[in-house]
Amino acid sequence: MRTLVFLILAAWWMGPAVQAQPAPRTLLHCGTLLDPGVSMAPMAERTVVVEGNRIVAVDAGFTTPRSGDKVIDLRDAYCLPGLMDMHVHLTGESRKGGYIDRFTIPPPEQALRATQYARTTLLAGFTTVRDVGSNEGVGFALRNAINAGIVPGPRMFVSGPSLAIMGGHGDPTNGGREDLLGIPTEAQGVVDGVDSAIRGARLAIKRGADLIKITATGGVLSIARDGLRPQFFEEEIAAIVRVADGFGLKVAAHAHGDEGMKRAIRAGVKSIEHGTLMSEETMRMMIEHGVYYVPTITAGRSVADSARIDGYYVPVVTQKALELGPIIQGTFSKAYRAGVPIAFGTDAGVFKHGRNAKEFEYMVEGGMPPMEALRAATYNAADLLGRLDELGTLEPGKLADVIAVPRDPLADITVMHEVAFVMKDGVVYKQDGRPQIAAR
Ligand SMILES: [Zn+2]
Repeated sequence: MRTLVFLILAAWWMGPAVQAQPAPRTLLHCGTLLDPGVSMAPMAERTVVVEGNRIVAVDAGFTTPRSGDKVIDLRDAYCLPGLMDMHVHLTGESRKGGYIDRFTIPPPEQALRATQYARTTLLAGFTTVRDVGSNEGVGFALRNAINAGIVPGPRMFVSGPSLAIMGGHGDPTNGGREDLLGIPTEAQGVVDGVDSAIRGARLAIKRGADLIKITATGGVLSIARDGLRPQFFEEEIAAIVRVADGFGLKVAAHAHGDEGMKRAIRAGVKSIEHGTLMSEETMRMMIEHGVYYVPTITAGRSVADSARIDGYYVPVVTQKALELGPIIQGTFSKAYRAGVPIAFGTDAGVFKHGRNAKEFEYMVEGGMPPMEALRAATYNAADLLGRLDELGTLEPGKLADVIAVPRDPLADITVMHEVAFVMKDGVVYKQDGRPQIAAR
């Protein structure tokens, strides 16, 4: 009791003295600010003022530091909000003959490798990612370790395993021996029928999912001949959406064929991933329902490239990769012209982590102006996550996720590969092109 009284008195006594000393701030002196969620025009000479993990002000000109403030000189650079990739797989990475990895790399080793993928992704300027498909809880563990400051990495929104149908894209037992692997269950993300779909979705959420990912059609990298046909009944998807809704979560749908996309959109999903054979009618539905398109052009291009390497994939995958991979960029162009809302996503993991910025090149090549491509990777991505309150722009009150590149990306989008400064949550992870990750 006496201790409590003392503590209260001490707090009362010290309170005003602590408050009188303004908190130290970090001032980012940015030569140019590109913040497409705020303005589609570049802003010259701005200071982003960071206190703790938040942006507290964005001042015109280069603000003079007060005592205790730290200044980071980015006067020759172009500052942007931290980049956001809405489709990655941080728990694995494609390689020649890598089909076997799922059978040979145990979850603890996956997790250790994943810490490197996470670090690489953060240092490439991607401060937020949506991890849409990871097994054995590795994705959740990585997210939690990053949030706890144990390993450096992007802020992760994680789905856990994709929900798939028996034998469909995402069934982790496909192509394996049934006597060894058994019949897959909801615990592995495999659901069949409405009740099972409900159970699978609830299980994913119980384990810590930030969103639900489903595979609405076949896929390129699964051991199955068809990559296009719908794989869920509409009522199964609707049941999953209802479960997610109850927890305030969104559903993302992988889809290559058009009918699967239509079912998913009608059932209430919030994003279509890949969208390879999206028809004009479906594009109109996307606009009408406010569904985001996450194109992953890089995945399409890179699987087609990998398929040309002898023995990279098993034959059934090689054929699909060559057929479907090259189509996505054209679909992206049409969808953009049609006015479909687009959020940046790459499918990193299907190719090497850290090369996410390749997508910007493909988007610009596909006819999207650079500033809009940057908006897709900042404001639009935050909107898709439902986190515009804290992410997506550099405005007072938002989390301090800021990056900088040395030249004007509006003149040359390839400079997005040369991110030289990375701040996430107010912590500097890269400066002058060098990692700043200290040992704890
Ligand atoms: Zn994917």
